[in-house]
Amino acid sequence: PNNPMLSNKSISNSSTKDSKKSEPANIQLQIINEHQEFNKELGTYMTDVWKLSESGFNYCMVAVFGSQSTGKSTLLNALFETQFDTMDDNYRQQTTKGLWASTAKNSNILVMDVEGVDGRERGEDQDFERKSALFSLAVSQVLLVNIWESQVGLYNGANIGLLKTVFEVNLQLFQQKNKTKTLLFFVIRDHIGKVPLSRLSETVKQDLQKAWSELSKPKDMESCDINDYFDFMFFGLPHKVLLPDQFTAKTLELRQLFYNPNHDDYVFRTQYHKKIPADGFPAYASNIWEQIVTNKDLDLPTQQQLLAQFRCDEISAKLFKQLQDDFTCREEVEAGVVVKNLGTMFRSLKTTAMEAFDIGAGRYNLEVYKKKRNELLFKIHDYLKLFYKSQIDSILQQVFTNFSQAVESGLKEPDYNFTVLTMKLEKDAKDSFTAFAQDLTLEDASWTYSKEQGQLAHDLAEFSRAKRQAELTKRENLLTEDVKDHLEDNIPPILASAETNMWDEVTREFLDCTNVASNKMKDHATTLGLDEDETNVHISNIRVKVWEALVRRLKDETADVLFLAKLRRRLEELFRYDADGLPRVWKPEDDIDYFFKQAKAEATELIPLYSKMRIEESKLNLATFFNGNTLDFDARRSLTLVSLSKRADIEARFKREADALFLEAKRSIVATTAK
Ligand code: GDP
Ligand code: MG
Repeated sequence: PNNPMLSNKSISNSSTKDSKKSEPANIQLQIINEHQEFNKELGTYMTDVWKLSESGFNYCMVAVFGSQSTGKSTLLNALFETQFDTMDDNYRQQTTKGLWASTAKNSNILVMDVEGVDGRERGEDQDFERKSALFSLAVSQVLLVNIWESQVGLYNGANIGLLKTVFEVNLQLFQQKNKTKTLLFFVIRDHIGKVPLSRLSETVKQDLQKAWSELSKPKDMESCDINDYFDFMFFGLPHKVLLPDQFTAKTLELRQLFYNPNHDDYVFRTQYHKKIPADGFPAYASNIWEQIVTNKDLDLPTQQQLLAQFRCDEISAKLFKQLQDDFTCREEVEAGVVVKNLGTMFRSLKTTAMEAFDIGAGRYNLEVYKKKRNELLFKIHDYLKLFYKSQIDSILQQVFTNFSQAVESGLKEPDYNFTVLTMKLEKDAKDSFTAFAQDLTLEDASWTYSKEQGQLAHDLAEFSRAKRQAELTKRENLLTEDVKDHLEDNIPPILASAETNMWDEVTREFLDCTNVASNKMKDHATTLGLDEDETNVHISNIRVKVWEALVRRLKDETADVLFLAKLRRRLEELFRYDADGLPRVWKPEDDIDYFFKQAKAEATELIPLYSKMRIEESKLNLATFFNGNTLDFDARRSLTLVSLSKRADIEARFKREADALFLEAKRSIVATTAK
């Protein structure tokens, strides 16, 4: 009672009654006030005060109907231990009209009491009576009709007029095919007992039948029967004031019909239930009242459909929000972290939401529920898909990084076989990706990762290919370096010898080099997994590279200075040394001119020898040897080492140097002779 939620002040229009003396469960709320306004607190009351919201269909609803001051509130309070105002409360006058609701003590029965204005103001009175009756019928299983025994049989009395209203209203409400019966429970007050209840109830039934037949019924419904819409029960209660003990005893008996589901005459049968889930009751009741107040046609199936949409949307939105809140890995996933068990999390989030939806929304209109269920499912799928996509990309990256690192370290191992290595690692990477992706994929969300799978396969193959190419290039370069070193050691002596078979020797050296390099290339081809065609291309390329290294070496050797040095050396060998290699000492009788001419001629012959490679076709067929290389290359064009103009220049320079040598020799004789 100290809970401020439950205090008067928190309710608009101070619409709760004094709660000081009531238990929380019996706290009542004015659902509709004297201005015919619907109380927005109903939802809060259903949930927090009456604790009925979670009960689904497992709640009952009873309303009361009858003339002013016939002891309705007294009856409800006696039956359900509610605290509705009665005329007995001498401190308070019964002046406000409206609809009140409360729960019965210790039960899930929702009880509605109606208060009207004084009976003399008929016009307004009937308006509210009609509206409240309409409302009560739309939501209640049982309508308690409170009449005095003395009124029974007075056909023109106020009661029949009211009941006619009820019937009319009922036809309006339930003219649709799904007739939900309502139980009209007549409580005959001040039942003396002289006239047995059965006779009284017969009289009432006859009056009802008569009233029913006089009713102006909607078209096509002229022949409908009162029993299609209502069941009837009757109960007599003694005078409360005059026979208090009997009244109490009878009331206790009556209670059984409302509280004991196993009682033969238990009133809250499921067939009377209006099938509004408890959590939807506030919205439904509010809508119904809105329709009633604005005098719109009340079409309950449509109302139920609307309620279903409204509630399903509400439940869906709440669960979706919950799902977003519960998805704690959101930031990690967005940051590109590969999250363990994310698929399990997806599934669990989705299942939790959908199961809760099925429980909450499954009680509403089936069509609407199914439609809204699909909508929620799509929404969840859409939402999770963003993270799914992002995670798939992260996995893709991680798998690729792991793969490339594994390849790098694999290449550091001795004796690796590139193809075997990369094929295994590619397979591992693909398997790992597929396993991850499969676990992450919600099958019924039609998510796919085949595109990414294809992307990965392509990236892996591309990486392997590039890696192999790089490796190949590296090894080719190493081979070329080796060849260069070798040629640097072996070519100069051959050229220096200037033997007539010099070019044969060079050819042999070239072929040796190429052989060694080709064989090494073949080994590389095996470890790098090159096929035969690729291997041949690379061997052919290696030949070209060796050839180019050779030509570069030869051009260095035949560059101006070295060329001239070679000529000079030959000249000196022939002119200044004799056949035994001893330096000549010229004597006057020596024919210096002859010797010089001979030596010079012989040295000059070296010029064409060095200027152009002479490759015997029988030893090396250039045309076929370089066949199949992929480089733009023609060996024959590189055979000429020194151009013709360069040759002429070298010849001229050599001549000058030779002449100088000759003059020097001449002078040496003159000098000897002069001594
Ligand atoms: P309501 O306006 O229909 O809710 O009537 P109330 O419950 O406020 O009671 C109206 C008056 O009827 C009060 O003065 C009660 O004392 C009186 N009353 C209550 N129960 C009975 C009953 O069983 N018989 C008679 N004759 N009067 C009763
Ligand atoms: Mg009352």
